[in-house]
Amino acid sequence: MEISLRTLTPIWTGGVETGTMDRIHETGIIGSLRWWYEAIVRGLGSDACDPTSHSCIYDPEKPNNGLCDVCQLFGATGWRRRFRLAVSNANLEDAWSGGTINVKPPDRNRGWYLNSGKTGTFDLKIMGDEKAQAQVLTLIQFVSQWGSLGARPQLGYGFVEIVDVRNPPSLSCNVWTEIDQNQIGRSLPDLRTFTFFILDFEPQQNDWWRKVPGIRPLISDNRYRNAVDNLTHHHMIPTTPALKNVLRYGTGWSSSALPHQFFGTLRGNERRRGQIALSWAYQQKNSPIWRIRGWTYPPQVELAQQQEIQQRLQAVLGRPETLLRALNIQYRSATVSFAPATTFFQPVTSKEIQSFVSEASVTGVSA
Ligand SMILES: [Zn+2]
Repeated sequence: MEISLRTLTPIWTGGVETGTMDRIHETGIIGSLRWWYEAIVRGLGSDACDPTSHSCIYDPEKPNNGLCDVCQLFGATGWRRRFRLAVSNANLEDAWSGGTINVKPPDRNRGWYLNSGKTGTFDLKIMGDEKAQAQVLTLIQFVSQWGSLGARPQLGYGFVEIVDVRNPPSLSCNVWTEIDQNQIGRSLPDLRTFTFFILDFEPQQNDWWRKVPGIRPLISDNRYRNAVDNLTHHHMIPTTPALKNVLRYGTGWSSSALPHQFFGTLRGNERRRGQIALSWAYQQKNSPIWRIRGWTYPPQVELAQQQEIQQRLQAVLGRPETLLRALNIQYRSATVSFAPATTFFQPVTSKEIQSFVSEASVTGVSA
């Protein structure tokens, strides 16, 4: 099976040198697919081990060979991955040339550093038995609609859409089955507590992005102007720093540790993955409408602190007018929608997750 994908924001899988990327690395794609599969499997109430403390080891004496649902497909010690994945027909270019750009909203000293990443189209060739192919296809359909591929989704990288699927598996069973045997755990990502959101807006001006905090200084800087030209040519604008800036620094937090915990941090050797991802703004094909989407899930903190984050998210991302004000965008029309629940961090049942993910596999292809 071959799945053709088009990037909506640059894709990033790292490279040999830090800060550069020679090509899309398959391991980076597989890593992100596995992360999403774990969150979905947990959301369905089934077993997904924690790969950082790898707990599954193949053992034919045990039920299910001692493997969780994720290791069954993605492999574990003594059990190989049920599919092979290769990047082919890549028609990709650097999103811009000239290295890292620094997006710095007016009130920040340091700002955010963005690497170019790759934009364009590429195929994922999936090899394996029919069942494994069907599982991977539905997973990629979900990811293209709601998630992202590769690394750095927190900075808006890796949002893609499916252009075409060739030689799909003939098996047409529903791969997502609700098990509902496990409660929502607190420590590992579980789709039942995720909130996905989509903002669609029609800007008043064609060059609306000139007013986005942090973008204007790039235009007047000789080092960065070319990067902005390239990005507007590709119909993608890095709005993520401006939005994060308002979310993170807008008003004070009750504890200084809380924003580090939620937005992620890189201090010396300590790296924390943030629990909110926001795409850049990207223009819908043949349409005046631009889209920003993303997701968030609650950090492992006390309930009162969770509510604090929830209120902050609601105040900025909850309504199109607050969101677009944060970005300094004038607009003709705008809508924001949430799924699977309508409020941030409101848990849903595994039954609801089953219909949520199944729906994505039906509507995931936009030809
Ligand atoms: Zn496992």
